[in-house]
Amino acid sequence: MIDLHCHTNYSDGSDEPLTLLNRAAQLGVQALAITDHDTLEGYDAAWPHARETGFDLLCGVELSTRCAASARSAHLLAYFSSDPGSVFRTWLKTLRDKRLERNAALLRRLHELKINISCEELQAVGKRQIGRPHFAKLMVEKGYVKTPGEAFDRYLCESGLAWVDREEPSLEEAIERVWSAGGIASLAHPVRISRDYGILRKLTAALLPHGLEAIECFHPEHTTPDTHACLEIAADYGLETTGGSDFHGSYKPDIQLATGKDGNIQITLPVLQNLRRRFMKKRQHDSPVAADHAERTCEVRS
Ligand code: AMP
Ligand code: MN
Ligand code: MN
Ligand code: MN
Repeated sequence: MIDLHCHTNYSDGSDEPLTLLNRAAQLGVQALAITDHDTLEGYDAAWPHARETGFDLLCGVELSTRCAASARSAHLLAYFSSDPGSVFRTWLKTLRDKRLERNAALLRRLHELKINISCEELQAVGKRQIGRPHFAKLMVEKGYVKTPGEAFDRYLCESGLAWVDREEPSLEEAIERVWSAGGIASLAHPVRISRDYGILRKLTAALLPHGLEAIECFHPEHTTPDTHACLEIAADYGLETTGGSDFHGSYKPDIQLATGKDGNIQITLPVLQNLRRRFMKKRQHDSPVAADHAERTCEVRS
């Protein structure tokens, strides 16, 4: 059992990186990828401990991007077999700056709506990186809403009263940057983009030339038909399959590390072994997969 999608308190999870590693070890999880939103800091903090204890920890990140086809935000998982390097890390810093701008604007918008949350309160909750779940948590604690879900529905979601757009890189740019850093880009929880599998298939085909190499097939929000549709798309386009619980600790208490919601996912070691085989191929040849992509784009009809 492995988990290739989870969050620490370096983004919007509640666990310290070491707590997450210990939790994984206790559950008998064989390998983990920490995939915090737009930051590698949680992974960086966990890595020395993983190396010391021999725990199999993969470097990952979940990027917030803009999908032009759906005119919505889309998440992209990126996995690296070694350090992604300074160009990629510097780019992540620019994403953090955009997030800070968005957070300041969101705070102002909430004040206009008579929801008074201070910067200090936010920093106390989201110590390392503040995201909307931290706003939601405070709104519940201060009695403005009853649940985090209500905070999102009424205020924080894209159609909410306090919605503030965040400048995000395009999905294509993010995929290309992951590719250039030697990583494998995987479309995260694809059904959040659309549950129309035909649309997902077309989108996947359009992303192949940019360097998309995987699709997240196993995710707690996926129904069995969703998983099958994603597996079929992956097989047709020669993509790797990835999966994980999207664990956020106490921020999403119904989701358990590695097993998801009521045990609705189980990801096995061969998923990671396939990813590692692809890393090897990418390193051995200049970019054989890129050539494959071009061929497949022509071969496979959407
Ligand atoms: P941000 O990165 O600050 O834009 O916040 C996005 C995060 O908020 C996502 O990664 C989810 O963890 C969480 N989120 C988004 N929509 C909802 C929702 N409707 N209910 C609960 N959490 C949500
Ligand atoms: Mn999150
Ligand atoms: Mn996500
Ligand atoms: Mn996630």
